[in-house]
Amino acid sequence: MNELTLAARMSRLGTESAFDVLMRANRMAADGCDVINLGIGQPDAQPPETAIEAARKALRDAHHGYTDPPGLPALREAVAANLHRRLGIDVAPDLILVTPGAKPVMFFAMLMFGESEAEILYPDPGFPIYRSMIDFSGAGAIPYRLEESRGFSLDPESVLSQVTERTRLIILNSPANPTGGVTAGQDMDRLVEGLLDHPQVAILSDEIYDQIYFDESRPVSLLEYPDIRDRLIVLNGWSKTYAMTGWRLGYSVWPRQLMDVVSRLAINSHSCVNTAAQMGGLAALEGPQDTVSAMVSEFASRRTQLVDRLNGLSWFSCQAPGGAFYVFPNITNTGLSGRIFQDRLLTETGVALIAGNSFGNAGEGFVRISFALDQSRIEEGMDRIGHFVSNL
Ligand code: PLP
Repeated sequence: MNELTLAARMSRLGTESAFDVLMRANRMAADGCDVINLGIGQPDAQPPETAIEAARKALRDAHHGYTDPPGLPALREAVAANLHRRLGIDVAPDLILVTPGAKPVMFFAMLMFGESEAEILYPDPGFPIYRSMIDFSGAGAIPYRLEESRGFSLDPESVLSQVTERTRLIILNSPANPTGGVTAGQDMDRLVEGLLDHPQVAILSDEIYDQIYFDESRPVSLLEYPDIRDRLIVLNGWSKTYAMTGWRLGYSVWPRQLMDVVSRLAINSHSCVNTAAQMGGLAALEGPQDTVSAMVSEFASRRTQLVDRLNGLSWFSCQAPGGAFYVFPNITNTGLSGRIFQDRLLTETGVALIAGNSFGNAGEGFVRISFALDQSRIEEGMDRIGHFVSNL
């Protein structure tokens, strides 16, 4: 066999260990083990019926062709109307790009700004693909820490102190994966104010969990700051809000100066998004929103259940997350590293969760537990976890 020479950048590409754990858990389940998957990163709710019907109808009505690369015009208008309804802000539909899931938006932003000599700031702990794609792009990956003592809300002064003349992009994520942390409004105000002194820095705000929050006031969106709109990229989509992860449907808002280049990236990579999925996504935005509110109130009661159970065990301390559907308890009292905790718990009890350092070095000493499964399974998972730690 010929020896193939891969481009050097391929060795810099990381991965998302949640998928590794998921595969191991699935194998154990196929072998007959009663696996409780608390590692899962997708809602267990059903998408809106209107979305399913609209996608079916699209196929029956023979919508089999390509669409405009940035998305169906009606869908881009519906996204703009949705943003106006929810946030009270105006976004021109021609600044919206529909993508196959939200992940490509990260890839595009990193390809646009990342190269050697450039630096990109990202949250640690944070969604692992940020770090992976920064490395792939060749840029310096500069983590900013999210502290447990601040409920994993970013510290604006500490983030700003890491901005240099090499900084090209800063990644924000609130509500956050894996911590559920929500950045407080005044902290975001301060961060944006500080960024006004660094006009060369673009901002990628990952707002994929923006409608899953538990306090009365909604998390702020970076779209609410007009002074940075000319360098702001907002990532969002249908995966979490409408429980449509497998549909691969996301959207993003871009500054006008980047719209042409991102449209070319889209044409070079995926051409356009599956037409029937776009039509389903349109129906989800325009139809009743009761599936979203029902899912969020169910998540709220599971959050209380999990936080109470964890804090009832002396081995854990757990902050109540402000959003998303994860808790990120501190496990240092168990004396185990996150990775050993994760591996032993899975093999010895059949409970899957994700070691905190899968999300960056600052995640060591924590694990991510998802509450995207029903309360009786969470209860059973917590019973097994309690039994496991008491036998350590
Ligand atoms: N951003 C964050 C913070 C996520 O947790 C995820 C998925 O887990 C995504 C983006 C990706 O979303 P999508 O499945 O729409 O690509």
